[in-house]
Amino acid sequence: MCRHLAWLGAPRSLSDLVLEQPHGLLVQSYAPRRQRHGLMNADGWGVGFFAAERKQPARWRSSRPLWADPSFASVAPVLSAGCVLAAVRSATAGMPLDETAAAPFQSGRWLMSHNGVVDRAILGPHPDAESVCDSAQLAAHLFDYGPERTAEFVADVGSRDPGARLNVLLTDGHQIIATRWNDTLSYLHRDDGVVVASEPYDDDPRWADVPEHHLVEVSGDTVTLTELEA
Ligand code: GLN
Repeated sequence: MCRHLAWLGAPRSLSDLVLEQPHGLLVQSYAPRRQRHGLMNADGWGVGFFAAERKQPARWRSSRPLWADPSFASVAPVLSAGCVLAAVRSATAGMPLDETAAAPFQSGRWLMSHNGVVDRAILGPHPDAESVCDSAQLAAHLFDYGPERTAEFVADVGSRDPGARLNVLLTDGHQIIATRWNDTLSYLHRDDGVVVASEPYDDDPRWADVPEHHLVEVSGDTVTLTELEA
């Protein structure tokens, strides 16, 4: 499974968030600590972030492993944002391996990442999906359904596909919405903002694990956990 992370708070550099943490996404791309499915995340990566002067997020995605992208490593220290969503990918068997299958997926202001697997037959094809990859299909359906209804969406898809793993992570630059549905999820509430991530990127004792089948909403300085219908 993939690993993903979102930040909402004071501006931080992409390098700080994605590359420099001792167990951050760069290390998680080859040595994740809590990953249950798949050994590494070498099938691409992506980051989306919001700049004050633009309504829509900027995205940088690649089909290469994160560790093999020296140009990003060079630029990342000088790109800062108060809202960032990033992911490293371990492709599910049979899924395409190009950049369009790497999260984050986008619709208008919304960015979405999926850590998991879902039966595409349950969803049906979506004409606006960025890729035939299950995660891109899931994103297109969720964007249509309405990100503010993520809890209902995940519970519905989960009930129709009991084998699905549906850890999703969304942001529109003002809030983070995430679900834990059959994979790991944690959050870190710092003085200057909140991180939601598949697994802790360091050993800060303030990291908290999200219980299974829960929704996480981050708005301003507030983190709300709600149980999802399983
Ligand atoms: N199923 C998605 C893909 O193939 C996500 C896989 C994952 O979470 N590792 O990209």
